[in-house]
Amino acid sequence: MTFSFTPEQQAFLDAVRRFAAERVAPRAAELDRTGVFPRDLVRDAAALGLAGTTIPAAYGGAARDYVTYAAAIEIVSSASATVAVILTVNNSLVAEPIVTFGTDDQKAAWVRRLATGQSIGAFALSEAGAGSDAANQQTSARLDDRGYVINGRKIWVANAEQADVAIVFARTEPDARGRGISAFLVPLDTPGITMTASPESLGVHGLGCMDIELTDVHVDAGALLGESGHGFRVAMRALEGGRVAIAAQALGVGQAALEEALDYSRTRQVFGQPIGNFQAIQFQLSDLATDLSAARMLTWKAADTHDRAPRATLEAAMAKLQASEAAHRAADRAMQILASEGYRKGSRVERLFRDVRAAEIYQGTSEVQRMIIAHEILG
Ligand SMILES: Cc1cc2nc3c(=O)[nH]c(=O)nc-3n(C[C@H](O)[C@H](O)[C@H](O)COP(=O)(O)OP(=O)(O)OC[C@H]3O[C@@H](n4cnc5c(N)ncnc54)[C@H](O)[C@@H]3O)c2cc1C
Repeated sequence: MTFSFTPEQQAFLDAVRRFAAERVAPRAAELDRTGVFPRDLVRDAAALGLAGTTIPAAYGGAARDYVTYAAAIEIVSSASATVAVILTVNNSLVAEPIVTFGTDDQKAAWVRRLATGQSIGAFALSEAGAGSDAANQQTSARLDDRGYVINGRKIWVANAEQADVAIVFARTEPDARGRGISAFLVPLDTPGITMTASPESLGVHGLGCMDIELTDVHVDAGALLGESGHGFRVAMRALEGGRVAIAAQALGVGQAALEEALDYSRTRQVFGQPIGNFQAIQFQLSDLATDLSAARMLTWKAADTHDRAPRATLEAAMAKLQASEAAHRAADRAMQILASEGYRKGSRVERLFRDVRAAEIYQGTSEVQRMIIAHEILG
């Protein structure tokens, strides 16, 4: 076991740090204000290997290990949570499942495009009645002589506004819960698809979240990703990597909040001295730094397990739970330490405070992570 990056990993992370500082951070406030999907930044990130960080080189990916990926996502997220989420959806929720479950034709059609940023991918699992209860899929896929006909409605599909392809989950067997679901690779220009913007959200503006209506959408049998009836497995495997990535994304926001609080504690003079001299402030900073470091260790452990073991369900759930809640605490405390300066609309802490919250909701709420952990440890 080692706790340091190799010089080669470090060089990659240094390049990511420069990209985040020079290209992403200056755009973060504008992204938050306008909510416009940052297609150009995604293309530039892809050139650095950030659209397919864990994807094999044979498909145009950067072929990095998951710990390096998690560290890179944390760096990008500390500049902009939005850009980090877009990249993790593309990488962990779309490109990876195609590599793992796809046929040669599916891999040839999509993985290189996704890993190099030519195309963007989306993951369409959630429905009005299937959020935490993801097995309660009402979208259906009926087999006919031309392939499958998909009908249903997906909601909150990140990236969809600019995506070329989505993994769409649909029920192929009635009343079979998780066992009757299949996954399909659906190009988003397929006739029968209409999209409307998802409701305006508190934070992570610019994710391109869309609600997708599928009306008699025909796809051929080659669109099936993995075996028929095994779609829930595809979703759960994708979400395992996705949760490690969201843990890293949350950490980035939490770390940025801690850094804002540290800077302010050094410079803000009250009662004739920097507020960082007060033990009440010091103890908050100490707790946050410790909390985030613990969450980072769990995240890197989960990332390493995801790389090496057949499954990392427990580790990924623990990492996402711990990191998203630690980051939330960090943003909340940073707001308190910056006080009116943090509460001011347009301050960085105000954006972090709004951006951090979604990590406790998407890819399984904190309650869902606790359910998974309990299931795993109770046996
Ligand atoms: C910004 C954003 C982006 C998203 N992107 C995507 C995407 O790209 N693709 C996609 O498919 N989905 C996406 N989602 C949807 C997201 O995954 C769901 O919102 C999430 O899974 C929670 O589902 P829900 O909102 O329906 O809450 P519900 O399932 O209705 O849960 C409501 C509350 O009940 C709690 N709860 C539920 N069941 C239990 C239980 N058994 N025990 C205790 N508490 C319970 C939940 O934790 C929550 O607090 C996105 C959501 C957001 C906000």
